[in-house]
Amino acid sequence: MPPDGPGWQAVRLSRNRNWGHPLLISTLRDFTARAQAQGFPLLWIGDMAQPRGGPMPFGHASHQTGIDADIWLDLSPKPKLSAAARESVEVASLVLPNESGVDPGRWRPQHAALIRLAVELPGVDRVLVNHAIKRELCRSHAGETWLRRVRPWRGHDQHMHLRLRCPPGQAECRDQPPPPAGDGCDASLDWWLTPEARRPPPRPPGPPPSLPAACAAILSAR
Ligand SMILES: [Zn+2]
Repeated sequence: MPPDGPGWQAVRLSRNRNWGHPLLISTLRDFTARAQAQGFPLLWIGDMAQPRGGPMPFGHASHQTGIDADIWLDLSPKPKLSAAARESVEVASLVLPNESGVDPGRWRPQHAALIRLAVELPGVDRVLVNHAIKRELCRSHAGETWLRRVRPWRGHDQHMHLRLRCPPGQAECRDQPPPPAGDGCDASLDWWLTPEARRPPPRPPGPPPSLPAACAAILSAR
C-alpha cells in the first residue's frame, strides 16, 4: 500500500507492515475512495502485513496472510504528515475506561457509518471492534443485518480490524467459520464484562504453532 493516496495516509511506516494481498490493497483503495466521497477526512491505515507475511516480531497473532488491515477510527481533518510525524500519531480511545460503553464525549454517529462502510465492502468477511463499540452499534442500529459481521473483541477501541474472505484463486486459504447467526446483540456481549474476559489467559507455554509448509517456503526464500 503506498504511504499516501486519495483518502488515506499509512502510518507507522517504520514497521514495514503496509503490505498485503492485491485484493486487500484494492479493497482499501475502494474503501478510502468511498469514504472520501462521503465526506470523511483522510483515514489512517495502520498495520497490514509484512512484505512476505508471516509472524510479526511484536503484536498481532493475525495479520500474517495479507488479508487483514487496521484502520484508525479518527474523524479529525489531518494534514499531510511527514514519515517521522507518522511514527508518533495517537488517537484517543472511543471507549470508557471501564469498557461499559463508548465515551459519549468522543463517539460520533459517523464512527458507526465508517464501520458500516467497511463491513459492507465487497469481499470483507468481518470487522473487529471493541465490545463496547459493538454494544453501541447494537443500540443505535438495532436490527440491521450488517451488525452480524461486526464482531466484538478486546482492544480495538480506537481502530477497527478489517479481514477479507479468502481471495479467489487462493486454494490453500481457509475462511474462518462464519459468525453465529443473528446480529450478535445479545447476552454473548455481556461476557466481555466478566472478570474472566477482562483478564485474558496468558499465552500457552511452548513454541508457537509451526507454519504451514507453503508459508515457511515463502518466508525462507531469498
Ligand atoms: Zn488488527
